[in-house]
Amino acid sequence: MEQPQVTLKRVPVLDLSHEILELKPQLLRSIEDVLDKGAFIMGENVHEFEREAAEYLGVQHAIALNSGTDALVLALLAAGVGPGDEVITTPFTFFATAEAISQVGATPVFADVDPRTFNLDVNRVEDVITPRTKAVIPVHLFGQVVDMDPILALADRYGLYVVEDTAQAFGAEYKGRKAGTIGDFGCFSFFPSKNLGAYGDGGMITTNNEVFAEKISMLRAHGSKKKYLNELVGYNSRLDEIQAAILRVKLPYIDEWNKARRNSAGVYRELLYRTPGILLPAEEGYGRHVYHQFTIRVLDGRRDEIQNKLAAKGISSVVYYPVPVHQLPVYHHLRISQPAAEQLAGEVLSLPIGPKIEVSVQQFVAESVILALG
Ligand SMILES: *Cc1c(COP(=O)(O)O)cnc(C)c1O
Repeated sequence: MEQPQVTLKRVPVLDLSHEILELKPQLLRSIEDVLDKGAFIMGENVHEFEREAAEYLGVQHAIALNSGTDALVLALLAAGVGPGDEVITTPFTFFATAEAISQVGATPVFADVDPRTFNLDVNRVEDVITPRTKAVIPVHLFGQVVDMDPILALADRYGLYVVEDTAQAFGAEYKGRKAGTIGDFGCFSFFPSKNLGAYGDGGMITTNNEVFAEKISMLRAHGSKKKYLNELVGYNSRLDEIQAAILRVKLPYIDEWNKARRNSAGVYRELLYRTPGILLPAEEGYGRHVYHQFTIRVLDGRRDEIQNKLAAKGISSVVYYPVPVHQLPVYHHLRISQPAAEQLAGEVLSLPIGPKIEVSVQQFVAESVILALG
């Protein structure tokens, strides 16, 4: 039967245009100020942003870096993780999480996820701990914090460092504490699409440990505390001043934006409540999910079909992640199986969401999902 003609609206998966339009005068003023002052590296915006971010998150130290990937690498290096060590993480994440482990010369060891939350299953973590395990990297995927208490208990028992990959969860909470301030390190990304995004690359490490903070500050600047007095072999991993200025404009809005994302998630939940053939994302009672993504599971092998039907109507959706990390070509030699992650890779579909998405757009998306399943 012919479907009624729907006007083709283009629905991007994330629309930053409203935000940019709204903040443009402030952004331009801040960028102009950087140009006028002429300090482009490690100027006052970087220092102030670090102070403001630390205060917002409730943590002692925040060290701004050039990416979330470097945040993971530098945290592992600060903890002394290197060749011969094993680091446990989830196979259902962006490659950078595991890449950082390999980058420092350690071995990534995967523990399967809980398919309800998409996050590390703590029981699987304990199964793969060995005498060589040095750290665990829980990833707060899609904006939902991992159940941290059992992870911390394990870390305590086995003497492991806890590095929180908080790239997708700026402002999320676990039992009243901000994600990224619970373990030994919090690693953040300010990639433009993240909940707090720059307009270029950026990242940050948070920690309550002064020794780690100092080491990371040195590592990001060629291993030096004082310029031209290099004490370690480090990196060039600084956040640039213009991105810091942009982040300072945006940080005061993060609670409002995360709240709007939560509201939008609630709208999808109502619209898609008990739709046969899909599962809505679980929201755990211990935390405050910030919906970096609103990710449904499409059952019965129909995910690609539904995605194509949405695309035909101009609705973008994304599969995060189509190949679990342990099956990526670079780790193919591991020949391990992680059934939950593999199943999710075939089912997940992230629908358009963002702080400014309109209810009418969500209605169009939800109707289209239901129609496509029909
Ligand atoms: C984005 C992301 C990263 C990497 O951050 P970059 O700033 O892009 O380097 C790491 N882990 C996860 C889970 C991410 O989503």
